[in-house]
Amino acid sequence: MTVNAKSALPYGRQSIDDADIEAVVQVLRSDWLTQGPAIESFEDAITKAVGAKYAIAVSNGTAALHTAAIAAGLGPGKKLWTSPNTFVASANCALYCGAQVDFVDIDPADANMSMELLAEKLADAEAIGELPDVVVPVHFAGQACDMERLGALREKYGFNIIEDACHAIGGRDRSGSAVGACENSDMATFSFHPVKVVTTAEGGAITTNNRSYAHRLRLARTHGITRDKELSNEDLDGPWAYHQIALGYNYRLTDIQAALGCSQLNRLPEFVDRRNALALRYDQLLSEFPVRPLTVHKGSYSAYHLYVVRIDEAAAGMSRRDVFEGMAARGIRCQVHYIPVHLQPVYRAHGFTQGDFPAAEDYYKEALSLPLFPAMTDLDQDHVVSALGEIFSGANQ
Ligand SMILES: *Cc1c(COP(=O)(O)O)cnc(C)c1O
Repeated sequence: MTVNAKSALPYGRQSIDDADIEAVVQVLRSDWLTQGPAIESFEDAITKAVGAKYAIAVSNGTAALHTAAIAAGLGPGKKLWTSPNTFVASANCALYCGAQVDFVDIDPADANMSMELLAEKLADAEAIGELPDVVVPVHFAGQACDMERLGALREKYGFNIIEDACHAIGGRDRSGSAVGACENSDMATFSFHPVKVVTTAEGGAITTNNRSYAHRLRLARTHGITRDKELSNEDLDGPWAYHQIALGYNYRLTDIQAALGCSQLNRLPEFVDRRNALALRYDQLLSEFPVRPLTVHKGSYSAYHLYVVRIDEAAAGMSRRDVFEGMAARGIRCQVHYIPVHLQPVYRAHGFTQGDFPAAEDYYKEALSLPLFPAMTDLDQDHVVSALGEIFSGANQ
């Protein structure tokens, strides 16, 4: 399906084809709408797509982060550090567990967590005995953080790494490692919301190479219930019985969603290639505009969940808000990613304030996400670029 230049263009949207629809209809006609065979097929497909040993499918990306935080042992008295330039869920998962949250400011070049600032903050934290238990790097816009460097810091300081890879399935980090393979992390979490790279409507997953994390993730997904004799100390009463050995949730994905996910994963390389082609074309078409794209590191392959530009307000002679509203008036729905999490009222109530993470705050003032999704045509993109051209030339009149 294509969106023509006349109707509103969203910043992102799903691509559903006949094979996706057929896969969903097949499940609807089958015996299992949930807890059936489609879940295992989807989990197998995820492990193959990213090269991890285990994948656990859950109801959404937030549930993926929450179960990962549980599996990593977060609880009262423990600490999680993440980037302020992310969706609130990357930090909320610590609060769900009663753990504390802190942030590490971004590198303005790529808007990912700054590894320099992280290294400094870790050294300071070690000196006062306040090292974090978990660090959550967020692969912003689809470009992976420097995972080798982060892995080396993990070696030195002994924290766990949960990658928030909700933007980044199908990408590779600068060392060539597939996002989700967990070569330098404990777990990686994914979201399959319709604006993300592949969709199951609502959905998420965690990948890991660690068997004991995989067990804990499965327990957290389904009420802490198991029928596995190895995991339970007591004998079961009979074939009907189960034991609840931990406190878990109902974070299951349905078979309807899993079938859609399997079908979507068949097109993952195609989706990411198209996103990259459009991003490259934006880079070229916008090169004379008062905007700056994010830096892409040599060797890294972004999944390009988002195409973000920073508006140079001085050179443009107008504000980011003017550009946003000018685009909306022309039927182009941009977005802003992200309001720094520490400035959200819930986090201010935890003591954070303006000025705590200045790079994320400065970045936020200028950031604008332009439409980018696989079904977007070159014509759609030309329409976005000419709308931007109109808006910027209006400023100079
Ligand atoms: C989308 C997203 C989430 C949450 O995923 P849901 O499936 O919407 O719960 C978490 N972190 C980041 C960075 C995201 O973009």
